[in-house]
Amino acid sequence: MGHKVLAGKSSLAKYRVQRAANRRADSDRAVAALGRAFFLGCFFRYQLASSQIYGQTWGRGVSSPLHQSRAWHFVPIMQQINPLQKPDQFLFDVGALLDWYDEKARLLPWRIGPGERMHGVQPDPYRVWLSEIMLQQTTIVTVKDYFNRFVSRWPQVEDLARAPLNDVLAAWAGLGYYARARNLHAAAQVVATRMGGYFPRKEEALRDLPGVGPYTSAAIAAICYDEKIAVIDGNVERVMARVLLLNRPVREAKPLIRESVQTLVPPRAGDFAQAMMDLGATICAPRRANCPSCPLNKDCAAAILPDPTIYPLKSPKAQRPVRYGHAYVLTNPHGAIWLQRRPDTGLLAKMTETPGSNWESAPQEPAFPQPGKWGNKGNVVHIFTHFRLELQVWSLVTRDDQPCPQGWWSAQENLDEEALPSLYRKVLAVHWNSAQKNAAGFKPAAVGPD
Ligand code: SF4
Repeated sequence: MGHKVLAGKSSLAKYRVQRAANRRADSDRAVAALGRAFFLGCFFRYQLASSQIYGQTWGRGVSSPLHQSRAWHFVPIMQQINPLQKPDQFLFDVGALLDWYDEKARLLPWRIGPGERMHGVQPDPYRVWLSEIMLQQTTIVTVKDYFNRFVSRWPQVEDLARAPLNDVLAAWAGLGYYARARNLHAAAQVVATRMGGYFPRKEEALRDLPGVGPYTSAAIAAICYDEKIAVIDGNVERVMARVLLLNRPVREAKPLIRESVQTLVPPRAGDFAQAMMDLGATICAPRRANCPSCPLNKDCAAAILPDPTIYPLKSPKAQRPVRYGHAYVLTNPHGAIWLQRRPDTGLLAKMTETPGSNWESAPQEPAFPQPGKWGNKGNVVHIFTHFRLELQVWSLVTRDDQPCPQGWWSAQENLDEEALPSLYRKVLAVHWNSAQKNAAGFKPAAVGPD
């Protein structure tokens, strides 16, 4: 801005007034310049840090020659206050994450660790696929035993494809979500018969297999073949919600998270995917964020908060509807249990059950399959994904060889071989009035959801 000119006064007076006005204008400009410098100083603070270390310039995903796997992203200050307008503008040190993974990767029976990968050992797609299907909705601790049993019984995909479905369902019993087991068997048959025993290498082609959705196909493609694709599970969503200080529940920001992670994927795509999962499972856990030990703590927007675990923001919980029904446990004088097969479609399709009623939205009177003195043993409550089920358990000892039109007697010592879902293990536990092992060693207590 130029100095103002004054008219209608003597030269000296004009000069003095003009000089005073110029001084005020100089002072105003100095204050304005200081304000701009302060703002720019704040605005550039992330970029300065990265450029001092890696000599980088503005932009997304730039790698220095020394750190090929490092991707630095710029987060404007305002974005931390009102974050997530652009998925390619945030700081995230991929190299630090991979360094951490090289040192701290979890040892898992299906995993090829970073050291072995460096020496050229490739993950087995069969084992990775099997573990990923089992891990859907189930914890690693539970899955490990099931995984080891499956691969020792069916070491190759062809072995699993040849196995009778009922054997697979029985081996899966207790792991829950039984549609996964049916799809697992169907997918094994597709790979074994139509693909010569080889899993597809591309994420898109993997999706054609039964039971393989976008997450599983991305995980297999990245882990086995280093396809540069974002692999997003609950752990990754939580880490990103904190890194980005996501100002809305994850459910509403899934595309944004996917795009953000996609900009980060380095050539070591499989290790990156597993590093993110491990970080979320061990350091950036749901109820505890160990920020001082986290490789992302320099850049993570939540790391400066007193409690980062308030992110991700929670969505209001929907109320689960309740359904009611009856389970009828028939035993013969030798203690064998009458079992039957569930229908081929619907919930728990093709699994084994005790006879029972339909599950209704209001309590009903029992309609026993046999006349007799039925004893009420108590209730079972079971949570399915979309509803809560309350079953009343009734028991009767019968001498009838065929108490229901269809089904079979199963001796107690054979119950472990039956494809009994957790729900019916709970029913038997109530029937025996105990969650402990019964005399025959059968473990009736549920270990997973149905
Ligand atoms: S710095 Fe803390 S909040 Fe951020 S990703 Fe790491 S553990 Fe999570």
